Amino acid sequence: MQDGKRQKGRLILKEKFCLDLNLNDLTLWCEARGVPKYRASQVYGWLSSGCVNTDDMTNVPKNVRAMLEEDFIFGSFELREHLVSKLDGTEKFVYALYDGNIIETVAMRYKPGISVCVSSQAGCKMGCTFCASAKIGFGRSLTSGEILAQVAVTQKIIGERIRSVVIMGIGEPFDNYENVMGFIKLANDPDGLNLGARHITLSTCGLVPKIEEFTREGLQVNLSISLHAPNDELRKKLMPVAKAYSIEQLMKACKEYTEATKRRITFEYSLFAGVNDTPQCAAELTKLLKGGLYHVNLIAANEVPGTVFKSSSPAKVKQFRDILESGGINATIRREMGSDIMAACGQLRRGTIEGAR
Ligand code: SF4
Repeated sequence: MQDGKRQKGRLILKEKFCLDLNLNDLTLWCEARGVPKYRASQVYGWLSSGCVNTDDMTNVPKNVRAMLEEDFIFGSFELREHLVSKLDGTEKFVYALYDGNIIETVAMRYKPGISVCVSSQAGCKMGCTFCASAKIGFGRSLTSGEILAQVAVTQKIIGERIRSVVIMGIGEPFDNYENVMGFIKLANDPDGLNLGARHITLSTCGLVPKIEEFTREGLQVNLSISLHAPNDELRKKLMPVAKAYSIEQLMKACKEYTEATKRRITFEYSLFAGVNDTPQCAAELTKLLKGGLYHVNLIAANEVPGTVFKSSSPAKVKQFRDILESGGINATIRREMGSDIMAACGQLRRGTIEGAR
């Protein structure tokens, strides 16, 4: 509520998106507006179940709904497109935000349940050369509530409980640190979405100072690092972040994280034909990760129109995995999901509603 401005003795929070509110915010709002406090739980219940329109809040009186609309941003998280993969049933949701930015969210069905990949920013500043999200430029960071809405609204549309969330869509989560931490808090809330921290995975391209900060948070959230190269020379060609932080600095932060939290780190490694999929790269990666509490996810990279990268063959991916495993590194070949609807890793894009910005 600290963002609110006082005007004629009451709080005006028009710039605040409804799903940014927690139960305490709503309770304080009820007090400020002279609304009975129990209305706060009712409204919070609706918000947590993915209702972003006050019209849906059937047990809340019309005058209270009108006051909510006066003070907060409602009805703005709009589904623009819903695509379903013919290959594996993966679903892509394109949402429009109140200011015209467009983001993408992906729901994947696994044996244990549905996992949703959320965006943390509209666009991305990191400039990875193989990534579609980097091509369209940067709009803005999402608020905690806009990240939460991707889970709550998607869950409402699908009509099934979402089991896990990966913050691996458009954007670099550690470039939007405060809001991502706020999202984790909101998602964890037993009175709200009630999603356990162990069911959330945060993926970073390797912003070392933020990994250090995240270590100090002591959260049970899973950490994943997009590595994609075993040495600085190659990594700099794929990921500009490598110019700011060397692999040595990155691995030092990773070691400190695993020692402090006793939690395993997963390294994402996309294999690009003839670029980073050679046996030499596999041997170098083995040496780099040896002895750590680490796991490697190997992905035959998705081809993104407008980039020069080609996907590694299944034989090359298997050979890479075998070299890692024979060197004592745990590695999994990840099944690619939703590539026919541009919903796979590196294929998501930010957009804007024409004329809205
Ligand atoms: S891969 Fe991730 S960090 Fe890199 S540009 Fe794409 S969204 Fe940003």
